[in-house]
Amino acid sequence: MSTTIFALVLPILMAIVAGTFMVLSRFNLPAAFAWGLGFGFCAAGFTTSIMLVPATLAALVSDLFFIAGFYFYAEAFLIHFAMPLFRRERIAFAAIYLIMNAYVVLRIESLHLELLLNDVATSCLLGFALVRVMHHARTIADRAAVLTGSVVVIDTLIRVLAFVYFANASDRLEDFAQSSYAQAMQVTTAIVGLFYALSIAAALADRAIRQLHDVAERDPLTGLLNRRGFARSMEAAGVGGRLAGAILTCDIDHFKQVNDRHGHAAGDRVIQTLALALGRCLPGTAVSARFGGEEFVTFLPNTSLAEAGILAQGLRARFAAQDWRAIDIDRQITASFGVAAIADGDDTAWPAITRADRALYEAKAAGRNKVVWDGGNYEPGAVVVDIQQSAKDEARRSVDNG
Ligand code: GH3
Ligand code: MG
Ligand code: MG
Repeated sequence: MSTTIFALVLPILMAIVAGTFMVLSRFNLPAAFAWGLGFGFCAAGFTTSIMLVPATLAALVSDLFFIAGFYFYAEAFLIHFAMPLFRRERIAFAAIYLIMNAYVVLRIESLHLELLLNDVATSCLLGFALVRVMHHARTIADRAAVLTGSVVVIDTLIRVLAFVYFANASDRLEDFAQSSYAQAMQVTTAIVGLFYALSIAAALADRAIRQLHDVAERDPLTGLLNRRGFARSMEAAGVGGRLAGAILTCDIDHFKQVNDRHGHAAGDRVIQTLALALGRCLPGTAVSARFGGEEFVTFLPNTSLAEAGILAQGLRARFAAQDWRAIDIDRQITASFGVAAIADGDDTAWPAITRADRALYEAKAAGRNKVVWDGGNYEPGAVVVDIQQSAKDEARRSVDNG
């Protein structure tokens, strides 16, 4: 009797973990609900495998719970890493397993085969999700969750193989509760399950903290940093040495007209498109932010004024060539750009932002759809001339074409 009571402690703890995860899912953590279901079904599987009679019913019901539990463990990993869920395929796999399992339990009546089938099926379900997500785990907490999930799979497989091939144990379904398998299951699940639950809790907490950061520091329309996020990111970049690189600012031309003629929603799409272009045309090290309405600021680390100017030209040309017919805008939309280098000895980006803004203002004054960079103390006079020349050439071309 006391062993029976002890055997109940584990599922009760798992049920508490399940409930806790389900509550956590309210904090915009949808994977937590699936993990809660996983722990809940596995807790039910443990209880019914030991408590339920007759043995065939115990096997059928507990196997159903276990397969459901691992189905949701897998689902939780896929949701957590924003991967395709493959629900139909996974449900079909579980259904085929359940039919085979019913045959093994009711007709063959083999405990060994039943355990082998169940543990291989559950391992496949969870293993599939882990293989899909493992290259997407970047934070320490996410990696730990994938690692402990893998340990759950390995533990499950080793236990069943050891039992079936080496334990020389009874093959009768009735003998399950007293089997070395049932005892091993309780011990290893208590240990592995504890680490599994803790690492998942850590991955969820880590995710929640990141989401809060994003709310405070990211612009919801474009996913870029907001002014506060940009300031913090610049502080981090300036720590431990001087800041080196260039600043690029840009502002969409006559944007009020876009809003007035085509509506605010179309205006939002234009803003999003420029944000996407920033991501595509600039190097991966660039730090871009939306500073307000349709104004963007980008820090280009270790980039010279000339290189930044060329990048800005590419961006300007790409944006000006954008086809807007998908959102019912049948004309060109352009943006103006200002570029400035961060001066030697500057330990913040703000003086360069001010200079880039001044250059942007000049680009507007010079007729818009242009890149102007801050001549300031930064040589290449030639480059400044070049850019102005290219702008003139372009204006001439557009006059010629028009
Ligand atoms: P300029 O060429 O001189 O830049 O002219 P402009 O019309 O673009 O002038 P300005 O930059 O001052 O225009 C900013 C406009 O952006 C005003 C405001 O209605 C609009 N705006 C600000 N935030 C948003 C937003 O989130 N969505 C949309 N659709 N419009 C916005
Ligand atoms: Mg504007
Ligand atoms: Mg503006």
